[in-house]
Amino acid sequence: MDITKNFTQLENFGHSLSAPAYLVRPANSEEIYSVFQNAKKMGLKVTARGAGRSYNDAALIGGGIVMDMRGMNAITSWDPSTGLVTAQSGVTLEKLWQTVEPDGWWPPVVSGTMKTTLGGCLSANIHGKNNFKMGTIGEHVVEFTAVLPTGAEITCTPKKNADLFYAMISGMGMLGIFVSITLQMKRIYSGLLSVDALPVQNLHGHLSALLDGAPDHDYIVGWLDCLAGGKSLGRGQIHATRYLHEGEDPNPQETMKLSNQSLPSRIFGVFPKSLLHYFMSPFINNFGTWGVNTAKYIASLRKHTFRQSHAAFHFLLDYIPDWELSYGRGGLIEYQSFLPKETAESAWTEMLKLSHKSGLPPYLGVTKRHRPDKFLLTHAVDGFSLATDFKVTNNNRVKLSRMLQDFDKIVLQAGGRFYFAKNSETTAETTASFYGAETIAKFKKLKKRCDPNGLLESDLYKRIFTD
Ligand SMILES: Cc1cc2nc3c(=O)[nH]c(=O)nc-3n(C[C@H](O)[C@H](O)[C@H](O)COP(=O)(O)OP(=O)(O)OC[C@H]3O[C@@H](n4cnc5c(N)ncnc54)[C@H](O)[C@@H]3O)c2cc1C
Repeated sequence: MDITKNFTQLENFGHSLSAPAYLVRPANSEEIYSVFQNAKKMGLKVTARGAGRSYNDAALIGGGIVMDMRGMNAITSWDPSTGLVTAQSGVTLEKLWQTVEPDGWWPPVVSGTMKTTLGGCLSANIHGKNNFKMGTIGEHVVEFTAVLPTGAEITCTPKKNADLFYAMISGMGMLGIFVSITLQMKRIYSGLLSVDALPVQNLHGHLSALLDGAPDHDYIVGWLDCLAGGKSLGRGQIHATRYLHEGEDPNPQETMKLSNQSLPSRIFGVFPKSLLHYFMSPFINNFGTWGVNTAKYIASLRKHTFRQSHAAFHFLLDYIPDWELSYGRGGLIEYQSFLPKETAESAWTEMLKLSHKSGLPPYLGVTKRHRPDKFLLTHAVDGFSLATDFKVTNNNRVKLSRMLQDFDKIVLQAGGRFYFAKNSETTAETTASFYGAETIAKFKKLKKRCDPNGLLESDLYKRIFTD
């Protein structure tokens, strides 16, 4: 395999970072191992890349080799009688749900975009809007196989090679390369979900609604107007959603048809959505977003219930293709903090106030309810998360970075955690503080065992694990 054929510039999803690398696309386990052998000879580091949907430097390695896993994208078995699916790691969530949904199943955990690959989802151990109920994607993995940099091909289940099972899932691709993944799907009885939409007037109301609404629903998610201040700080809208039970949908065969799930490519059947981000751009500033958020909040004041397809509910962000381009040339940074339910309100009040004072409010805020899990590099807590999107410009880059580091301090003090698929500022020192020495030592020991020559390294790894 010729590693040096394609030297190219790669970016993160938010287009706020870029790094040059040799890009290769292995087709099987032998080629993955051959990449490691070549890397060792050439003295280069290797990073796997799925769909490149991480907001930060997780799938970048400046001057190294990036292994694009999307060449391995076959669903190798699907059993609609049990809901068990086995797929190569480059399969996207889009391909997965489109395979299982017409048979009355849905992936138990999905991200806010369907473009992610299974390998990327396991590495980050993604959570959905049902984290409080279904946990992370790793909790639904029955088995996976992976190639280690040593060339060993291993099989892991929650019982077999359990230490690697719980560390590779959440390990941000730093221990080995996922090849094949077997997942348990969730039975559904309709192509529709029932969504309760309700307004919340401030942060206290927002977090109470997430807490109280979760037990009676299968999914819960909040939109937070990050520009509102004073008594309205933290206002927004909650969508609390449940599956339809057997018999509630008079025509499930119809609603489960793929044609009734797909997101339309045109608005009103005419205007191509691919152009929408150009129209959003003028609003991606403090004044424009204040106007949009105020209008959205007023429109959300009516409490109501409606039915929505699974795809439309889960993948709202895919509704507007390339929406991230509306943030302009500097791109965006997503900052997501996970806080215990006892400290979330005061910590986020402090952070939102700081963002207002700095003139750098986030233009999008999304809240979720979470529960802890037992994966080694877990980001979850018994509490909530708030994901916030910041516009990056040449003028604000340094100031923004400083403010996000101040956010890190507030989160640490409040006993919170960070998510390695999102944040761009978290340092090795911060990582050591929130995981503690024992977890870091355990991870490093596994790293030595799986990757004795230290071949697997991403820019993220250097940032969060280099002493
Ligand atoms: C619009 C949007 C919405 C999102 N919503 C959510 C959400 O709701 N919940 C959530 O948890 N996350 C969410 N994310 C984050 C996203 O799910 C993660 O960043 C995920 O890891 C991206 O998958 P990917 O295939 O693009 O992986 P990449 O970004 O390409 O890579 C991510 C990590 O996985 C590793 N990796 C990739 N493939 C393999 C492999 N085969 N073997 C080993 N390691 C591998 C990479 O080295 C890297 O460390 C969202 C992202 C976007 C852009």
